[in-house]
Amino acid sequence: MLKLSQPNISDDAIAAVAEVLRSGQLVHGPENEAFESELAAYLGCSDVVLVSSGTAALHVALIALGIGPGDAVIVPDFTFPATANVVAILGAKLITVDVDPETYTLAIDKLASTIEDWQGEETLKAVIPVHEFGCAADMKSILKLAEKHNLFVVEDAACALGASYDGSKVGALGDVGCFSFHPRKTLTTGEGGALATNNKALAQTIRRLKNHGMERSSVGMQFYQPGLNYRLTNFQAALGRFQLPELEQWISTRYKYAQYYIRLLEPLRSRGCISLPTLIEGHSFQTFMIVLEQGVERGKVIEKLRSQDVEASLGAQSLMALNIYPDAYSAGFSVSKKLFQYGLALPFCEKNSLADIENVVSALESILSC
Ligand SMILES: *Cc1c(COP(=O)(O)O)cnc(C)c1O
Repeated sequence: MLKLSQPNISDDAIAAVAEVLRSGQLVHGPENEAFESELAAYLGCSDVVLVSSGTAALHVALIALGIGPGDAVIVPDFTFPATANVVAILGAKLITVDVDPETYTLAIDKLASTIEDWQGEETLKAVIPVHEFGCAADMKSILKLAEKHNLFVVEDAACALGASYDGSKVGALGDVGCFSFHPRKTLTTGEGGALATNNKALAQTIRRLKNHGMERSSVGMQFYQPGLNYRLTNFQAALGRFQLPELEQWISTRYKYAQYYIRLLEPLRSRGCISLPTLIEGHSFQTFMIVLEQGVERGKVIEKLRSQDVEASLGAQSLMALNIYPDAYSAGFSVSKKLFQYGLALPFCEKNSLADIENVVSALESILSC
């Protein structure tokens, strides 16, 4: 079975993890500190704080910015639900905005009108652009709108480590950015995540919040505020550290593989069977998703692909189509709903070969009848 994706963990990386396990220093340790500074250098920001997942990163980011009841937060409708769950869990009003059909990220005209037309009793406090599948959101426009309307910008870069926008890495372009190291992402520590920021005071609050609200000093533990335990372990950090020097190479292979998929899938596209993602400079292609023609039963396509040893799945969710946020406000989600219903993520990994891509495309050609 050709899997949707696979972690890329070398024997050397496993040896590095084993060494940390033998050292006995399992939770906080030198690997955490080294990984934080290496990530900060890679992203070009002042501070990176490691946490236990991408969701933990989003949760801590919103707590650190003081988001809670009486506030409203805007997220794109097309994303993994964690982006919205943290807003709902904190008791803030969730607002979803439809996405752009080319980039699958926040549709700027709709974001602008949603902000300008907001009449709700909650105060608009933040926007969480998602760099969906590794494609950067239109940050220039988002930062401009955020400045004009006094909103925090929390980047959900959970699936976009290494993606760039206008020559800079995503994740530290707004107030704070959130990354995930789940096995479905390009760099993985099992579970894991990180926050990136250039705001020193915010970084200090985040460091306390993910560590019971405390700091260690020569006199022991000092508690500053109620916090959580969202720490990444020292051995997970060792695993992440080992992959970071490879990441640029992996992303460039992934970009070439996306190009190859697009070239081979062009006949299906021109017959109207599918639409294809746009090759945008800086895209890190965590996922390669095509969109099936409307009306096609995606479940059947997935089943038939499976019978040809190809694993495929949906791409991401439409939050409003899930019907689990009864108090949310949405100004429309037609693009998002279509992507949710007809999006098809194909096997995609830098470890695959060109022949794997050719096999997926011939399987699709044998299955799609249009
Ligand atoms: C993966 C992902 C998350 C959640 O990250 P976890 O590490 O699984 O908690 C959140 N947002 C987006 C856009 C993601 O792709």
